[in-house]
Amino acid sequence: MGSGNKRWYKWAGAMGGTTHRYFCYGLLCASLVWALLLLLFLQLSVDRLPAGTGLHRRLEHMSIHDNSLVLSPVRKPAIQWNTHSVEKEKLAGAGQLSSELGMIYSVDDQDVRDFGYQRHAFNLLISNRLGVLRPIPDTRHPRCADKEYPSPLPQTSVVICFYNEAQSTLLRTVHTLLARTPAPLLHEILLVDDASNLDELQGELERYVRDKLPSKVQLVRNEKREGLIRGRVAGAVKATGEVLVFLDSHCEVNQHWLEPLLSRIQEHPSSAVCPIIDIINPDTFSYSASPLVRGGFNWGLHFRWDAVPPELLSSPNAEIEPIRSPTMAGGLFAMRRDYFNQLGKYDQGMDIWGGENLEISFRIWMCGGLLEIIPCSRVGHVFRRRRPYGSPGGHDTTARNSLRLAHVWLDKYKENFFLLRPELRNADFGNVSERTALRHRLGCKTFAWYLQNVYPEMDIAGHGPPPRLAVGKISHKAKVVQRGRIRHLAIGSCLAALGHPSDKGGRVTLRKCSLEDANQVWLYNEDGELILASLLCLDASENRPNERPRLMKCHGSGGSQQWALGKYNRLYHAALGQCLAAVRAADQDDHITMAICDRSVSQQWQMEE
Ligand code: UDP
Ligand code: MN
Repeated sequence: MGSGNKRWYKWAGAMGGTTHRYFCYGLLCASLVWALLLLLFLQLSVDRLPAGTGLHRRLEHMSIHDNSLVLSPVRKPAIQWNTHSVEKEKLAGAGQLSSELGMIYSVDDQDVRDFGYQRHAFNLLISNRLGVLRPIPDTRHPRCADKEYPSPLPQTSVVICFYNEAQSTLLRTVHTLLARTPAPLLHEILLVDDASNLDELQGELERYVRDKLPSKVQLVRNEKREGLIRGRVAGAVKATGEVLVFLDSHCEVNQHWLEPLLSRIQEHPSSAVCPIIDIINPDTFSYSASPLVRGGFNWGLHFRWDAVPPELLSSPNAEIEPIRSPTMAGGLFAMRRDYFNQLGKYDQGMDIWGGENLEISFRIWMCGGLLEIIPCSRVGHVFRRRRPYGSPGGHDTTARNSLRLAHVWLDKYKENFFLLRPELRNADFGNVSERTALRHRLGCKTFAWYLQNVYPEMDIAGHGPPPRLAVGKISHKAKVVQRGRIRHLAIGSCLAALGHPSDKGGRVTLRKCSLEDANQVWLYNEDGELILASLLCLDASENRPNERPRLMKCHGSGGSQQWALGKYNRLYHAALGQCLAAVRAADQDDHITMAICDRSVSQQWQMEE
């Protein structure tokens, strides 16, 4: 550049002084005109890009989110969320998420996404970008909007216990509560931190709650990890509202979610009521309606969703009236605080997670209460495909908690549980004498009464599933299309659990086919789920091609648990695009794996009665 300049001066200096001045003005004007033209051209070309072109969307994206999400280091999410983006989404239609919300623009984005799946088992990048409040579709039955609720209704304390929840999902839970609950009904929100160690939940969260949220939102911290059961009790003990609502820390409440719950509680003070739990997809955060289903359980003492028996759906208002439910899913329900206390809160000998939902359900029904689902109340919940945390010491707290509830509430029917879990027959479950004393003090009915009156659909003998019920989340609507063993045609053996069929995460293997072995009985339903022993679903994660499938809790949303029994006797897994294969190894056990579909004998299966 230097030598070029010198040359230019030389040439200009050769001209006269005036000429020189005019020449400079001219050049200046020409440059200005050029600059203007260039700007105009750039603007036009951006505008002309079709919507959806990467560049256009990206520019738009940045201006929407301005100085907040996209440009900030997203691992420290949230705090200055720009709720303006909500308005933008509103125009696009509630619930219709931009397909590029999950787009990775930088190494930072990739980091956030990876970290999120690892720590939270959901797409943290999208969660962070959604902001604290976004429009979601009003999923209620249209006639719910016409319902009128009495006034006054009791004031509510919402208790949200969390352990290492992502800040964005936690704060969205809080902000949806503040935005979609009539202020006079919302007495307080108690955030109970179960000794989380995630950075973003320490000082930053404390400051946010103090500076950005109304004083009715309070943060309390457990000194040590207690688990959700004692954590919720800690919140309930602090609460001062008339009604308690328990929510998971990754929810979004929907329009008028609280009024129908409270009005039912007002009519019937000794009841626990649950909203319909809508589905927030963990990969996309899209919000979708759940159909009306009710809670059941199986003899492995796992919760499951059941179809509502048709006789309960016969009245014209059935879809907007309370539905009695044998059990609750656990995360989301409301009851009067005095009733919760009088009924014995929770079994505080239960640790971390699991079993408490069945325990409180049995206790409610057997001790004179009512447990219902209120269809006009809707709350979304992020259904993750795995629980992202363990328990201290790596104990199976669900097994121990289930044992406690079996010993206190199941009477002789605990034998059905032990039939499925013989290894637990002599396992330690601590001391339950306080809980049995509670049962006597409250004058509770027997489990036989419960089965007969509340859950007559249950298979009492403990053999196989009850006839018209399907198993697993959402599979309520999925009819069983086939039931039987799955025989490997070439090897002649049948697909069975490698360990116990109720072991989550367990592998499958081939065993000598036997009609007596319940561990070889599979249900195949119209959602494509393969459910072993009515307990768990055969699952092959979309992210792990060529790997061995596992038995996992049925999640009911297809994908990793969707199989097609089809052409060439193959068991095809659409999400992976691979087939189930048995690999015969001379020196090792046979094993079952996912493999690129071919027509080889290793991939040929037959489902038989
Ligand atoms: N939770 C807790 N302490 C624990 C385990 C869970 O406070 O040790 C909280 C968790 O953050 C969530 C609620 O309890 O808000 C229910 O747990 P989770 O959502 O993992 O259960 P899921 O919905 O998977 O059944
Ligand atoms: Mn949850």
